[in-house]
Amino acid sequence: MHELSIATAIVEQAGEIARADGAGDVSLVTVRVGELAGVVPDALHFAFEVARDGTPLAAAELVVEQVTARAWCGACAREFAVGMPPFFWCPDCDRPSRDLRSGRELEITGVEAVPAPR
Ligand SMILES: [Zn+2]
Repeated sequence: MHELSIATAIVEQAGEIARADGAGDVSLVTVRVGELAGVVPDALHFAFEVARDGTPLAAAELVVEQVTARAWCGACAREFAVGMPPFFWCPDCDRPSRDLRSGRELEITGVEAVPAPR
């Protein structure tokens, strides 16, 4: 399952971020996932619960922020949502756009951890 390798990478990276901060267990991880990133949020949540087992993220919550895919129309100087499945034609002038501005994100934007035990 594709989401499991992503969830494993999220668990590893978030654990490293917390360790670099001298923190203990991670309580919350926030990720931004674009509509076109090819990740199903429900599947990612499920995979995260598998991947976090036995790690400093064992009790962590995963928050997925979905990012709408938007493209830029130079003729109209505006962005438009491309939707799902993506449709790259400007709704105003009906011209195709190749300028995707958002929607491919797959990144950790926040890690909250409890202080390390003394
Ligand atoms: Zn346009």
